[in-house]
Amino acid sequence: MDSGEAVTLPHMVKDSWGRPLRSLRISVTDRCNLRCQYCMPEENYVWLPRENLLTFEEIALLTNMFSDQGIDRVRITGGEPLLRNNVAELIRMLRQNPCIQDIAMTTNGVLLSEQAQALFDAGLHRVTVSLDTLKPERFKSLTRRDTLDQVFEGIASVGRVGFSGLKLDTVTMKGYNEDELIPLLEYGKQVKGEVRFIEYMDVGGANDWSADKVLSRKEILKVVSEYYGTVEHVEEVSSAPAQRFRLPDGTTFGIISSTTMPFCSTCDRSRLTADGMWYLCLYAKSGLDLRKPLRMGRSREDIRSIIQSVWETRKDRGAEERKELEQVSGRGRYIDIDRLRKDPHLEMHARGG
Ligand code: SAM
Ligand code: SF4
Ligand code: SF4
Repeated sequence: MDSGEAVTLPHMVKDSWGRPLRSLRISVTDRCNLRCQYCMPEENYVWLPRENLLTFEEIALLTNMFSDQGIDRVRITGGEPLLRNNVAELIRMLRQNPCIQDIAMTTNGVLLSEQAQALFDAGLHRVTVSLDTLKPERFKSLTRRDTLDQVFEGIASVGRVGFSGLKLDTVTMKGYNEDELIPLLEYGKQVKGEVRFIEYMDVGGANDWSADKVLSRKEILKVVSEYYGTVEHVEEVSSAPAQRFRLPDGTTFGIISSTTMPFCSTCDRSRLTADGMWYLCLYAKSGLDLRKPLRMGRSREDIRSIIQSVWETRKDRGAEERKELEQVSGRGRYIDIDRLRKDPHLEMHARGG
């Protein structure tokens, strides 16, 4: 692979609906130290073969090719990204690319306190920690691990080492944590983190999903405004998935309404798995293997033009299609469990959230 080729100025490639390619979510591992019911309901999984995992050098090279096509935002995710040995080194490498303006990470927070300083020193811009409950017993029953204290320590370490812009992502589920919206918002104020409520989605291994467990954007707003008073919509032009709102005291929070009000029409995100498969949508059932051309030594220009031609044909609007099904045949299980067991790429924990 020739990495010494001249970098040409990025140009913005658009898909068949005019959506640019701006943001890349890079999953660095499919492994996880939690077993959240909505993501990894089983204990054992078929893992991606180790020899197929991209090295940090390979991830950085591919990111350079994506940035040639307009990517300027990267999110490191997983599985649990902090399980990947020395992931701070990857951040350091990605920071060498001047086109990448923003490098964020989504983590479950369990290993964060021990790595936060190294991540900050490496140049990570922002951290999002997933936090669905403040109650230890509930955390244990949701994740099948007893590590909520470590998550709290991880969250506390974010500001301590110097990060700003902390976000706390909460998957809201009826019958599970709908009674914690207000305590979570109050906790967010304490730790200076913006809470984002995410509607429960029927992606990948979320085989226990059903419409009646989804706490919708509308219901979330009702609970929050009943407690705090008028909740104001923050008007902003953005392709970010969260719509933001402001409480009377100025605190902001977000709602990611992927299930009841999908936002596919502005989606500029795609996903790279730890073994180099490129997915154009969270719901995509097939992806493009970029590891193969990379390891065959195809040039930067070749791979860049593969990326361009594939993005130009993109028509994906997975969440909207799932929603439309509600009017037609009903929203049954998205992917059959046997198929999920055979192909780890179909899982949320393989392609990142
Ligand atoms: N392990 C890390 C974590 O949990 O933050 C990163 C990977 S995880 C797949 C990324 C995000 O996806 C998490 O915030 C998680 O809550 C979210 N997620 C996973 N399954 C989901 C589902 N069925 N519906 C909505 N969000 C989900
Ligand atoms: Fe939970 Fe993230 Fe692990 Fe999925 S990948 S089980 S959401 S911690
Ligand atoms: Fe983008 Fe697919 Fe999510 Fe729609 S469902 S917002 S197209 S990733």
